[in-house]
Amino acid sequence: MDRLYAPWRSSYIKKDKSSDDQCPFCEAAASNDDAKHHVLERDGSLLVLLNRFPYNSGHLLIVPTAHVSDLELVARTVRAGMMEATAKWCAIVKKTFKCHGFNIGFNVGEVSGGSIPGHLHLHVVPRWQGDTNFLVTIGETKLISSDLNEIYQQLLAAAAEK
Ligand SMILES: [Zn+2]
Repeated sequence: MDRLYAPWRSSYIKKDKSSDDQCPFCEAAASNDDAKHHVLERDGSLLVLLNRFPYNSGHLLIVPTAHVSDLELVARTVRAGMMEATAKWCAIVKKTFKCHGFNIGFNVGEVSGGSIPGHLHLHVVPRWQGDTNFLVTIGETKLISSDLNEIYQQLLAAAAEK
């Protein structure tokens, strides 16, 4: 598998290490401002939101609202709900952005390379044929802040169509 190169993530990872007290997922869970946090869907137990520092366009995170670090600490119904949300949002992302596949997975624990090891999150990264070359070509700026709002609106609209 070709690895995605996402240089804009390095500042994020450095920043997060030094501000351990503020968990962005807990902040998003507690907030009423879904647009600010790019929350696509929420219920009492989980959130679906855009990753602010994506590996690729449409990189989603499925997050339990509880601040827990391990899968076995997540309630069984919430774990099941995370998988249902993954299936649902993969279908929406695929329909909206015509991606060819996904990388889906967890980094559990600091040793795994997870940038927010205290709060479990499931990555859903859309993949296109040749996207590793594509990302290097477009560089650092295109995918980050401005496009996130656009992607957020596109996905919300696609979810509402169903
Ligand atoms: Zn948290």
